[in-house]
Amino acid sequence: MPELPEVETIRRDLSKFILNQTIEDIAVHDKRVIRRSSVPLFIKRSKGQKIIDVQRRGKAIVMVLDRQGFLVVQPMMTGQLIYQKNGTLEAPKAAKVIFTLSNGGRLIYNDQRLFGRVYFTADLREIDYFRTIGPEPLEKGFNVPWLQKAIIKKRGPIKPLLMDQHFVAGIGNIYASEILFRSRIHPQRSAYTLRKEELQALHKATRMILKEAISSRGTSMRNYLDGQGEKGQFKNRILVYARENEICVDCKGVIKRFVQAGRSTFYCEGCQK
Ligand SMILES: [Zn+2]
Repeated sequence: MPELPEVETIRRDLSKFILNQTIEDIAVHDKRVIRRSSVPLFIKRSKGQKIIDVQRRGKAIVMVLDRQGFLVVQPMMTGQLIYQKNGTLEAPKAAKVIFTLSNGGRLIYNDQRLFGRVYFTADLREIDYFRTIGPEPLEKGFNVPWLQKAIIKKRGPIKPLLMDQHFVAGIGNIYASEILFRSRIHPQRSAYTLRKEELQALHKATRMILKEAISSRGTSMRNYLDGQGEKGQFKNRILVYARENEICVDCKGVIKRFVQAGRSTFYCEGCQK
């Protein structure tokens, strides 16, 4: 699933091409990806509007439209948002929605398994996801004093909490494992037991890893492709995720895997307490 660094990479790539372009036409090849309104209403509201900003919130891309409203794409597990410079090329097989832009290019939403969603909204506050999402980890609202307060009543383990979008935005399974390894915290630790030094380490690791991953244009495990249809390179810098039975780079111990809240968790027994 694309997490914050992958969605941010897509946002940055797309901004170069789609900013200030008018949506001249919209072809919906599968109506199931359009949420919150019928396809004709979706087209009516979005078509003819200019994209004046491309933002990201958590794992969602938000295109701000000039006259009214927002075009939102949540890629979820399998969605891809790709810009095609030459709008006369054949569209990819899994193309579900094709936006033809005033510069002659096309913004294509691909989704092989229909987990993702595309919709128009006049107001982001109408959408549960945006109303209830936690702070952005690369912004000022995510800081050590905030973490100290936020974990006080969190008796559950830290790793699922880091992946909870209501707690903090944009972190999923891959980066949660990496962040905890880098901060030397065991994924099973009850969040409220973390000491100030540990929260400082967690805060620092979160920001460092997400920034490094953005510079590497994200991590490609299965489906993720950036806004130009290329794979991300952070996979080569991952130290624990999907590295079960490999040797830890720090202590030469063995990387372990277990299932936590239904997801694979990877950690080093030697390094993480
Ligand atoms: Zn280790």
